[in-house]
Amino acid sequence: MEEQNLQEAKYEVEEIRELTESTYVVRLNRNGLEFRAGQHITLGPLNEVESREYSIYSGEQDAFLDVLVKEVDDGNISKKLKRVKKGDVLNFDGPVGYFTLNDEDIQSKRFIFIGSGTGIAPFHSFVKSYPGLDYTLLHGVRYAYEAYDRQDYDPERYVLCTSRDENGDFHGRVTEYVRKNIYDANALYYLCGNINMIYEVFDLLKLKGVPANHLHAEVYF
Ligand SMILES: Cc1cc2nc3c(=O)[nH]c(=O)nc-3n(C[C@H](O)[C@H](O)[C@H](O)COP(=O)(O)OP(=O)(O)OC[C@H]3O[C@@H](n4cnc5c(N)ncnc54)[C@H](O)[C@@H]3O)c2cc1C
Repeated sequence: MEEQNLQEAKYEVEEIRELTESTYVVRLNRNGLEFRAGQHITLGPLNEVESREYSIYSGEQDAFLDVLVKEVDDGNISKKLKRVKKGDVLNFDGPVGYFTLNDEDIQSKRFIFIGSGTGIAPFHSFVKSYPGLDYTLLHGVRYAYEAYDRQDYDPERYVLCTSRDENGDFHGRVTEYVRKNIYDANALYYLCGNINMIYEVFDLLKLKGVPANHLHAEVYF
């Protein structure tokens, strides 16, 4: 019965919050939806055949459901979602996915999160959902103004890697930061975003002795 209610639930836009010229947060009403931080949903405008996957950006305890979206040049859905208005109902499916943290690990392990661009979204959800989490977050962007919601992370645990300006914490790609600074073979590594970054970091970490079962990845494109 409850499942049926969820399927019939309407997911309405509560707010669009612009973070940069091309990146924005879509906030939906949650409708009591249960999810694990790290899972994703599928979204699209109501009268549109196509839809796309988006990681849930908000935390497990939040009353709303947020996703962080980058408007892609020549993209279809990411452009259309930017134009939705408060009160619009969206096509919605999910949540699904296994890019989640194990309850025991949350209490006992050290995590290294590595995201490129909007690949920071599941890490934002982890950090909001699990206070006290022992994490280091490496965020790879081109320019420092793409440090989305930086205030939501512990400054001691967050490293902004900027490849095209020197206004971040590290000037260079996130892969370069990993090559030079990351050595912990006991930590659990979560990688999210562009596939080339993920492959490169995987190879680097394996060379540094990180076992394959400590590596987890979510590929966006
Ligand atoms: C599990 C999963 C979770 C995802 N979560 C998010 C998320 O939280 N936030 C988010 O913004 N995207 C996320 N994506 C990507 C998203 O599903 C879409 O691919 C993206 O919004 C582009 O869709 P589009 O219809 O606008 O472009 P399309 O018309 O589908 O594609 C246009 C081109 O853009 C490329 N592209 C896709 N994403 C990007 C990007 N970020 N930067 C540059 N080029 C890109 C595609 O490879 C394609 O070549 C996720 C993808 C997956 C598989």
